[in-house]
Amino acid sequence: MSEWEKLHRQCLGCRACALAETRTNVVFGVGNPEAEVLFIGEAPGANEDAQGEPFVGRAGKLLDDMLAMIGLDRSKIYITNSVKCRPPQNRDPLNTEKDACRGFLRRQVELMRPKIIVCLGRISAAEIIKEDFKITQEHGQFFERGGIQMMALYHPAALLRDPRKKPETFEDLKALQRKIREICERTEIEFK
Ligand code: URA
Repeated sequence: MSEWEKLHRQCLGCRACALAETRTNVVFGVGNPEAEVLFIGEAPGANEDAQGEPFVGRAGKLLDDMLAMIGLDRSKIYITNSVKCRPPQNRDPLNTEKDACRGFLRRQVELMRPKIIVCLGRISAAEIIKEDFKITQEHGQFFERGGIQMMALYHPAALLRDPRKKPETFEDLKALQRKIREICERTEIEFK
């Protein structure tokens, strides 16, 4: 069994926090674990909990459209969340839940060794890039952390709530596409 498979199994059996009591499925991630680009959301919602896959609801459909705009799809990247189980009523994950889950994301990053990490939304960016991340000011900017280029996009659910943010996000996606072109060797994107 590969190290990735071992981690996956371990994660599916995790009971380190109270979310294990209320979840239907652990949502480990989807896509290609050998990809150079890793997208990280916040935590699964109701649809994700039911299906065991990240970003499968309305926000997920928008995320797929955003990926398609820059020649990407789920098979060319990996998508996960910083917390792998659904918080009840989609509340923000508690610090205790983030602490309990952090090791899984760390190990995913260690095994994947992505070139680029894209955080979806402020909560993910605060967890991964810096604690006081200001999504309205710092979306689309690249930060280097331990040799990995990191950026945040507005969360697709935030774009559904406020479509006026979409033009800025399109610019951010183009910046991401340029960065992929610059530093990724194996990620095929359409050159538009
Ligand atoms: N929102 C997230 O942050 N992650 C999901 O998987 C779904 C919605």
